[in-house]
Parts: sequence; C-alpha cells; structure tokens
Amino acid sequence: MFPTLTVDLAKLRHNTEQLVGLAKDHGVSIWGVTKVICGYPELGRAMLSGGVETLADSRLPNLVKLIQAGVGGNKALLRLPTPSEAEQVVRFADISLNSELITLQALSRAAIQQGREHAVIVMVDLGDLREGVWPDQVIPLVRQAVALPGLRLLGLGTNLSCYGGVIPTEANLSVLTQLAAELRREGLADCEIISGGNSSTLGLLQSGRLPAGINNLRIGEAIILGRETVARQPIPGFYTDAIVLEAEVVEVQVKPSVPVGEVGQDAFGNTPLFPDRGLRRRAVLAVGRQDVDPDGLLPLATGAEVIGASSDHLLLDVTECPDSVHVGDVLRFVPNYSALLRASTSPYVNLVWLNKDSRGA
Ligand SMILES: *Cc1c(COP(=O)(O)O)cnc(C)c1O
Repeated sequence: MFPTLTVDLAKLRHNTEQLVGLAKDHGVSIWGVTKVICGYPELGRAMLSGGVETLADSRLPNLVKLIQAGVGGNKALLRLPTPSEAEQVVRFADISLNSELITLQALSRAAIQQGREHAVIVMVDLGDLREGVWPDQVIPLVRQAVALPGLRLLGLGTNLSCYGGVIPTEANLSVLTQLAAELRREGLADCEIISGGNSSTLGLLQSGRLPAGINNLRIGEAIILGRETVARQPIPGFYTDAIVLEAEVVEVQVKPSVPVGEVGQDAFGNTPLFPDRGLRRRAVLAVGRQDVDPDGLLPLATGAEVIGASSDHLLLDVTECPDSVHVGDVLRFVPNYSALLRASTSPYVNLVWLNKDSRGA
C-alpha cells in the first residue's frame, strides 16, 4: 500500500555510529532524538545500537511507546513539561528540560510521591527566543531548583536555530559554559551535563570549535537525514537517503503549463502564478498535503520536478525525465524535516522498516 515511508535502519545505525564516534573524540555525549518519526521503537533501537545511551523525544506518549516496547536507554523529555503532566513525566522520563519554577515544584512533588529521583536540566535562552530562561535568571532559578527535594539538577542546556534561526557560535555557547562555571563556583550545582543544542551545533563540533565544557548534544535530524541544520549541508560520511517516501502515479498527461480560464484562489486560498513553459508532461501522484509537505520533497527520479500539490494530489513535471513515467509507477522522494514530520504523523502513510537487525533495530 502506498504512500509509504521507507526507513533504512542500517543507514540510521551507521549515521548514529558516525556521530557518536565524532562526538566521543570531543568528549561529547549524544542523545538520540526520535520525535520526527513519532518515537517508534525500531528507530529508538537503531539509535541505541549505534551507540547513544539516552533517547529523547518532545512528547511523553512517544517515550511511553518506547518504554512499553521494552526499548532500553535513559528517556529524556525535550519539550518543557506542563505542570499537569508532572506525575507522568516523573513516571516515564528519567530526565526533563525545564525553565519554570512552578513546573519544577510540580515535578518535585511527583518525585516525592513516587519515591523516585527525577533529573532536570535548566534551559537557557541564548537568543533564539523559544524555551529557556534569560542568562541573568539562571542563578536565581537554580538556587530555588536545588532546594526542591526529589529533583537532581543535572546541568544546563540551550536550544538554538528553532524559532529565531540563531546560529550556535563559540560566543553564544560560551555563555552557557560560563554560567555552569559560576554555578560550580557558588557550590550550587556540579553541572554534569552542559547540553549545547541540536543538529545545528554539529558544524562547531566538526570544526573543533565547540567551546570546551559543552559535553552533550541532542541530535535528531543529523542522524535521520544526514545533514547539519544551519545550511542543511550533507555531513560527509552520513547517509542522506535513509528515509524515502514512495507514492504511486495515477495520471500522466501532456497539458499546458498555464491554467486555462480566469484564475481565482486555489484550494488553500492562494492566488497562484504560473510561468508559461508551453506544453509539459505532468504526472499526478496519489499523495498530498495531508500526507507530506510537498515543498520538502526531493524527487529521486532524474529530471522530475515538484510543481504543486493539493490535499490528496502531488503534481510533478516529468517532461525532462529520461525514463518515461507511467500510471502505476512508484516514484521515490527524499523528504526534508518538515515533509518527514508530516509523513510520519499522517495515518495514510505506511511505514516500512528495512534492514532490522536481530533485535529489531
Ligand atoms: C527537536 C529537538 C532537538 C533535536 O533537534 P534536531 O534538529 O532534530 O537535531 C533537540 N533539542 C530540543 C529541545 C528539541 O526540541
């Protein structure tokens, strides 16, 4: 059944091994981030067999899915917990990222109730303007956090390149290591983990410019799609095609490139513009915006070009394809992060795992 998302677990294990090896050379541990493929156990196991020791996801149900499938490793919750889910967070996550005292207090109460210790990382906003306290608020928050029973303050973290697109640099990441040094000096926390961000920090790691002291990164995209995320360049030695979307052709016809008739809004309220390229051979595929972000699809068929999509249809210009395209053909695409996120959350897209090892990873 198509559309299908084909996930090559051998390629994901390879990318994880490469990354864990590179990071180890710099004294950095890697958390494997599973959220873009919904925390599937197969993905978690592949990351563990590639050498990560902690699996991280932004959603609690994904962590629960990993635990219920018996997938090992520590579990970390990436999105700040809501106060109302504190009890579940303590039950299912070993570690959570936090920036609010009120939530830390709720986690502390839950930890005492369950007779467990819950580890927390305080998130610092270095300018990207998503989660985290401003640097001048770190010491006051940590002072209160370390007084809460049931919690263990593991260290500090930051997240960049997500909302503001702010690039991690030696300068902004040094703010994190300086704050950790201050916490140690004041005897407030050991800061066993200083987590310097996501796949966008890999450029600094590769070039040896990651500030000393940063000893952890939380990585999803680089493992799964094989790219760093500042300029989306492929990482040498990593597979960029571990995940492939496949969809079937339902029509191939030669038509004008400009619509015929008066043009109003399209199905999504946009008024489209069309360059006149004369008559073109067009293929219609049985996959659409409900399943995937069409702007994030790279066709693997030479010469094919994505020209648009509606809810259930993807339109390709196949005029330049050396191999002719027929109704019933299955065409393959490499998705970007946005396309993959949508495809893995669409109930209409089937997941196929290739190259499972003996433990199903
Ligand atoms: C999603 C996420 C990551 C991983 O990001 P990638 O770009 O996929 O490496 C890391 N940290 C946090 C807090 C996240 O939400």
